[in-house]
Amino acid sequence: MSEPGLRLLRDRVRAFPDFPEPGVLFRDISPLLKDPVAFRTLIDLLEDHVKASFPKIDFIVGLDSRGFLIGPPLAQRLGIGFVPVRKKGKLPGATQSISYSLEYGKAELEIQSDAVEPGQKVVIVDDLLATGGTMCAACELLKRLKAEILECLVVIELKSLKGSEKLNSIPFHSLLQYD
Ligand code: AMP
Repeated sequence: MSEPGLRLLRDRVRAFPDFPEPGVLFRDISPLLKDPVAFRTLIDLLEDHVKASFPKIDFIVGLDSRGFLIGPPLAQRLGIGFVPVRKKGKLPGATQSISYSLEYGKAELEIQSDAVEPGQKVVIVDDLLATGGTMCAACELLKRLKAEILECLVVIELKSLKGSEKLNSIPFHSLLQYD
């Protein structure tokens, strides 16, 4: 993995204490998205990682909402499709849904029931792994559709919250780690 590239990404992540509530240190990727060189570097690094790890992937699955900023450009680079996992009430047609706990609050996620065929291979992408609740819920939805989850992939991992342990045997990768 490119050290200068990772340093550039780290330089473009801001920390906001007590947002959206007291006690949460919010890691903001807005400066990274705003800088075209950093944004391209992010997608380059994710593409290199995924290509080196998996010979065949059917879909990139992105999580509402910042997974929607990272997943589609990555899917385009890989020449594959993108599947959204959304917060409740946004997707038309038949859906699978699951409720879960967040670092701050509770939420419900949904996927369209026909989004993935049984046995199709997916990589799930989000901006950040905190407690791992969101990623676990997304994995559960994809397991219900009988997808093969190759990996959960995030830009930022908050190590101290041990979210990756929640994923059990599902492979996990992060580009940047914070305590
Ligand atoms: P969790 O389910 O606890 O792993 O939370 C992950 C989701 O919440 C991701 O979609 C993040 O965008 C968001 N999130 C949780 N904690 C933070 C944080 N400290 N900074 C930025 N985003 C966060």
